[in-house]
Amino acid sequence: MAKRGIIIVAGGSGRRMQSALPKQFMILGGEPVVVRTINTFAEAVPGAEIIVVLPEEHLALWKNLAARFDVAVHRVVAGGKERFDSVKRGIEALSPEVEYIAVHDGVRALVSKKLIVRAMLEVEHNDAVIPVVDVVDSMRRIEGDGSVIVPRGELRIVQTPQLFRAEVLRRAYTQPYDVCFTDDASVVEAAGCRVTLIEGERSNIKLTTPEDMSWAEWALEHKE
Ligand code: C5P
Repeated sequence: MAKRGIIIVAGGSGRRMQSALPKQFMILGGEPVVVRTINTFAEAVPGAEIIVVLPEEHLALWKNLAARFDVAVHRVVAGGKERFDSVKRGIEALSPEVEYIAVHDGVRALVSKKLIVRAMLEVEHNDAVIPVVDVVDSMRRIEGDGSVIVPRGELRIVQTPQLFRAEVLRRAYTQPYDVCFTDDASVVEAAGCRVTLIEGERSNIKLTTPEDMSWAEWALEHKE
């Protein structure tokens, strides 16, 4: 069976949460956000190699948390300045035998095992697979002093996990950093790779603000 690697990026400082503790370490449903994320992937993809990218200044905190909570087997590497740098360090930490790589934002702790498995199956037939959801709000683009409507049917919200054939991702990450690289699909696309969209999940949000945490607690309590 093909060997799979998972990179969970949680190397950011999360300033929008307005708390001293980065959002990936905050408690959600009785455990730190990133612990929930790691364990969901470990259950969805048994035998996968899991790399967790954390802020350098919080490695000691993580050691403490990992001893107190039940966390699936993983290896830790220190993150870099940009998300791009953190993913790059994660790729370098994976074994060379890994054939497929999933990259996931550590703060998307509500991702379902179903979505992970679906994306893992799709990447066996496509170089790059990313989950997206429809836009339900009306959209406008700011232009000068005014704004123009953007038809929302033309837009999609991009999520993680993003999955890649390992050699495609490794090659793409040899490019120099560009400010447009806000996710991994943008990096592989810049390297000439075609990206395949699959249906994401509305609940798979990037926990960003205190309101997101309250909503996530509610969502976990009401999960059937
Ligand atoms: O900053 P943004 O919201 O795009 O972060 C998405 C994910 O990337 C988060 O899980 C964050 O911890 C991670 N990240 C990282 N290293 C950085 C910046 C962000 O691992 N330098």
